[in-house]
Amino acid sequence: MYSPNKPFKVYCQPCWWSDNWDATAFGRDYDFSRSFFEQFAELQQVVPRIAMLGKNSVRSEYTNHSSDNKDCFMGSSIMNCENVLYGDFVLQSRDLLDCTNIYMKAERCYQCINVDNSYQCHYCILCNACSNCYYCYDLRGCTDCFLSVNLRNKSNYFLNEQYSKEEYQRKVKEFQLGSYATRKKLYQQFIELIRTKAINKYTVVERSTNITGSYIFNAKNTHHAFDAADCEDVKFVANVEEGKDVMDSYRNAVKIELIYECHALIRAFNLKFCNVTYDVSHLEYCDNCFNSQNLFGCIGLKKGEYMILNNKYSPEEYKVLKAKIIERMKTTGEYGEFFPISLSPFGYNESHNYVFGNHLAKDEVLAKGWKWEDNTPGTFDKETLPPEQIPDLISDIQDDILKQVLKCVTCSRNYNIVEPELAFYRREQIPIPRQCYPCRDSVRIALRAPRELHHHTCMCPGRVAQNAQRVASDPALHDTRYTNSASHSHGDEQCPNEFETPYSPERPEVVYCEECYQAEIV
Ligand SMILES: [Zn+2]
Ligand SMILES: [Zn+2]
Ligand SMILES: [Zn+2]
Ligand SMILES: [Zn+2]
Repeated sequence: MYSPNKPFKVYCQPCWWSDNWDATAFGRDYDFSRSFFEQFAELQQVVPRIAMLGKNSVRSEYTNHSSDNKDCFMGSSIMNCENVLYGDFVLQSRDLLDCTNIYMKAERCYQCINVDNSYQCHYCILCNACSNCYYCYDLRGCTDCFLSVNLRNKSNYFLNEQYSKEEYQRKVKEFQLGSYATRKKLYQQFIELIRTKAINKYTVVERSTNITGSYIFNAKNTHHAFDAADCEDVKFVANVEEGKDVMDSYRNAVKIELIYECHALIRAFNLKFCNVTYDVSHLEYCDNCFNSQNLFGCIGLKKGEYMILNNKYSPEEYKVLKAKIIERMKTTGEYGEFFPISLSPFGYNESHNYVFGNHLAKDEVLAKGWKWEDNTPGTFDKETLPPEQIPDLISDIQDDILKQVLKCVTCSRNYNIVEPELAFYRREQIPIPRQCYPCRDSVRIALRAPRELHHHTCMCPGRVAQNAQRVASDPALHDTRYTNSASHSHGDEQCPNEFETPYSPERPEVVYCEECYQAEIV
């Protein structure tokens, strides 16, 4: 993930984890006449960095911020998984491709977002305990559903209508799922369906109490959080799983406790201002350290304790020196916040901020004093098989597709297909994707509610909900507005409930308060 022009020594995973080198060899004394971050930056330049971070993993060299995986390929934040390809934040799952935010037990799923405990689902969003569902949104305990939304414990539903098992099978068979042309139409139909026919609860919060935020599951006292599961006493976080007493942190998972201003942790206790660090306790200002306790300002340690700037001390010396350094840092104003942005190994345009659609232009980024990376990966115009010449049906794809260089229909960047990926497409009857992996990833992110909160009034008007602005701008949408199926406590009057929601008022979705949503979900 480091472009060749970066000033770091970069090792591949096996070399980085080997015993052939030792980060303590770069240890140095703390110099009280100079700033902490200046000395930390010098250490950063000499200690080797891991090309892509995977820990305790087998044949998963192209995954980053990942641990305990087998046969996973391309993706970040993948934990306890097997054969997960092109995933983003996927835990405890197997045989998935192009899936985002999966917390547990998804298997044989494709293009799914927030789908748990589910088997063989394609293009599903917010589903739990489902199997054989295709192009579905907000389902629980459903089997054999197609192009359907907001269902509970149903089977053989097509466009939200119940059919007999035989009729359902017949309807689904009409679609040749291995065809790119068919899938493209189905996808467009699905998007229209979730924009116009689905009702959205004001925010996705499930099995939780005392919450502000969205996509929160099994949590207590969790505020201003986005994508948090199994959390307690957590605030200002995004992507946290199994966190307790965590604040101002991003992308942390599995047994995270007493954490402040940290990025990318796995199994960590009592950390402040740390970056990409697993199986550790009592660390401050550390970067890429593992299996360690009591470190301050260290980089690249595979095992260590009582160390400062990679130098070893006795527990007593460590305690005294650390306290002195913190005192000094407080006088220079260095202590108490995460590393300054100048110490980031990456440019703004290589960061997740960019992936999440905050596309500041290069000059705006530089004006803020942030970095920009011109040397970004990817080739153009090297394709050996243009998109229009890829056979429509997966059954017509020959093994030589693995040797072809393809061209993304969205960004024109070249990409290729790897062997386990082709096996997956063949087994699950999925056509070859015409977009590269980063573009497919961005499309899924755009389908989720954004990480922001707006004050909103419930859109339930009593009988027929509609997004006024959208319907006014397009008369054809009069047909697609949502019609309530149950009577609500507020009768025919507009529902007075207000809430904080990630959906801004300009968005097309129909957004209901908890009460109105529950009244409608069957
Ligand atoms: Zn190597
Ligand atoms: Zn692309
Ligand atoms: Zn309401
Ligand atoms: Zn209502």
